[in-house]
Amino acid sequence: ADPLLKIEELETFFPIKSGIFKRTVAHVKAVNNISFDIKEKETFSLVGESGCGKSTLGRSILRILEPTGGKVLFHNKNILNYSSSELRKLRRDVQLVFQDPYSSLNPRMSVRELVSEPLFTHFSISKEEANQQVDEMLEKVGLPLEQAERYPHQFSGGQRQRISIARAFILKPKFVVADEPVSALDVSIQAQILKLLMQLQEEFNMTYLFISHDLNVVKHISDRVGVMYLGKMMEMTDTDSIYEEPLHPYTQALLSAVPKSDPLEEKERVILKGDVPSPANPPSGCPFHKRCPKAMEECTTIEPEFKEVKENHYVACHLY
Ligand code: SF4
Ligand code: MG
Repeated sequence: ADPLLKIEELETFFPIKSGIFKRTVAHVKAVNNISFDIKEKETFSLVGESGCGKSTLGRSILRILEPTGGKVLFHNKNILNYSSSELRKLRRDVQLVFQDPYSSLNPRMSVRELVSEPLFTHFSISKEEANQQVDEMLEKVGLPLEQAERYPHQFSGGQRQRISIARAFILKPKFVVADEPVSALDVSIQAQILKLLMQLQEEFNMTYLFISHDLNVVKHISDRVGVMYLGKMMEMTDTDSIYEEPLHPYTQALLSAVPKSDPLEEKERVILKGDVPSPANPPSGCPFHKRCPKAMEECTTIEPEFKEVKENHYVACHLY
């Protein structure tokens, strides 16, 4: 399939200000020179520990956060150069689903008001038309119509996530960033919401960027996976290769922390030393070298290039 999105050398840096004149003394490189593409109808998952920049990357691609460098090509047009009217149109085609649906849903609005609001924002549409579309969408996400006049607090966490999915999908977006959409939910409910997201993707031919700290969650839904660390992409390949033959020591460590369903399959666990370094003050050389069990002399000074080492398998590590 053709790429729907091409992300080229994207950077989102935040200034660190200091002193009485609040001068910029350094930058947090939250997204640091990242390039990859997302194919049409694909589910691309971004994984990594919290603070690795995956949410910032997702928001930068949607221009919810403004990138400080690089390009985001959507249908071959750089959205970072969009005029405000082009940007308004883009807002119909791209959506974000959050981790905590409660904080993103206005508690004073009923389900019907919440789900219809994007329609009134983007189209001149009659109340009857909107109601009909809302009814259809509620049915698709599995919310009983007789609950449409209720308020968010009257629903469970899983149902609130269904409400926010209905709100995000009512405009039939082409591209959805789902940022930890099931992390706040019980495991049994997680599976239902993931299944719903997959059904909707199929039905509307949508493309997903799925963000998660949990490799278990993305295993069954992703076509490809990208692993991030301190604002950089460390490894990227198809889902089977990530789980069957992870090349980057960081990916290997993340995977060894995932409990195995088959105890006979038990591999040696790699225990990561220390915490994630501060993104404001990343180590020299390989950003992972302070925690890497395979670190070599050169890793402390020379930053490895992110390169294709096998077909469609990219990794940033001096071992390859
Ligand atoms: Fe480890 Fe060196 Fe590879 Fe970095 S470049 S992941 S420190 S072996
Ligand atoms: Mg996050």
